[in-house]
Amino acid sequence: MQDTIKQYDVVIVGGGLIGMALAAGLAKSPLSILLLEQNTVAAIAANILDLRTTGLARSSATIFQQMGLWEKIEPLVTAIEKLDISEQGGYGSARIDAREFEMAPVGYMAPNLDLIKVLSDHVQGLQNVSIQTPASLVALEKNAQGYLLQCQAAETELQVQAKLVVGADGARSKLRSLLGIESQHKEYGQSAIISNVQPEKEHQNCAYERFTEHGPLAILPIQEQHCALIWTHSSEQAAAHMALDDDAFLEALEQAFGRRLGRLKAVGKRVSYPLSMTHANTLTAPAAVLVGNAAQSVHPVAAQGFNLGLRDAQSLLVLLQKQNYQLEQLDELLKTYADSRVADREHVIKLTDGLTRMFATQFPAARALRGIGLRVLGALAPLQRVLLNRNSGMRYLNHWFDQ
Ligand SMILES: Cc1cc2nc3c(=O)[nH]c(=O)nc-3n(C[C@H](O)[C@H](O)[C@H](O)COP(=O)(O)OP(=O)(O)OC[C@H]3O[C@@H](n4cnc5c(N)ncnc54)[C@H](O)[C@@H]3O)c2cc1C
Repeated sequence: MQDTIKQYDVVIVGGGLIGMALAAGLAKSPLSILLLEQNTVAAIAANILDLRTTGLARSSATIFQQMGLWEKIEPLVTAIEKLDISEQGGYGSARIDAREFEMAPVGYMAPNLDLIKVLSDHVQGLQNVSIQTPASLVALEKNAQGYLLQCQAAETELQVQAKLVVGADGARSKLRSLLGIESQHKEYGQSAIISNVQPEKEHQNCAYERFTEHGPLAILPIQEQHCALIWTHSSEQAAAHMALDDDAFLEALEQAFGRRLGRLKAVGKRVSYPLSMTHANTLTAPAAVLVGNAAQSVHPVAAQGFNLGLRDAQSLLVLLQKQNYQLEQLDELLKTYADSRVADREHVIKLTDGLTRMFATQFPAARALRGIGLRVLGALAPLQRVLLNRNSGMRYLNHWFDQ
């Protein structure tokens, strides 16, 4: 047991993308920060997330610009300029060219490994941020100064004191449960198969979203004319598709996706990822706050989870900056934070859950309605503009560092 207790202004539990982004955003603050991560940075980089490519909304690009990180991220991303939304076996489809609305790019595809590397390299060089890894939060105790956190670090136990503790520790947040914050959980009984594919034709920076008989299928533009694949299936179908050899898998994929990009010539390593939704009933407790997946983890159908989590982090950063990083009046700040996140969370939770349910039903009437909906979307420019605007996440951004 370590006998000296280190004191920090802020302890961030969880060094995933959102925890690291929050630490990066606090770089210019006078606060002392500890980032606690149960895995080593090398292990984070080597885990299942490797294969994932995250769709960054314009809100995320703006936040990274404001953090001074965009110039490092931009060379690694692929811009999305067009959207192609269709349903397998249905007549409706919508093709939206964001350049016609002067709203291109609508977003960017960023390989997770690259994002993790940029963020972790940056955070490791920050004067006011200490990183403790591998160290896992195991218990905490409220006291007059904030919280005393008990952590398991390699072979020793560690105690740290925080004025403010931030839970960025993912969907199964330990901090959330230690604080007694209840959450709603829903299993979709679905898994996403993630991989990369090489199409015959150039992707031309178009993102394809297709609702197939198994579930939503996204084929998204990435570097060197490859595409990232996210294909949602029922858990049984996902297992069956994972068991196929590459040729049979590509055949099944082509059958569902069609030949919009010509033949699909090759597929990379496949990983299957079970899908669920969890959202915390409240985002705060005295001197404690949740961000990212710890606050809400949503179905990836609309590529919103990271973007929403980054806006959580940004909102917290704005509020801390607005009160000159004084941590004495946290109650008011935390209430404002929770209030500021209501509309954005509700929008994304309803959107992702609604899309998942709407496109899961294969009844003929439902299919016909979806077809009409897609055709209307394909024909109506004002509706397309609304969709692009909503997807950008910009309406939920706070102004920051510019007041
Ligand atoms: C298939 C799929 C595709 C997706 N695609 C997109 C997309 O295109 N766009 C998008 O916006 N979002 C997407 N998402 C969602 C996005 O990946 C997540 O919302 C985001 O990565 C969450 O980051 P986080 O840092 O909050 O949580 P996590 O990535 O879960 O990180 C939590 C961290 O906390 C650490 N931790 C946990 N417990 C402890 C503890 N007790 N002590 C210390 N550390 C702890 C963990 O080791 C981990 O490093 C997708 C998700 C899936 C499943």
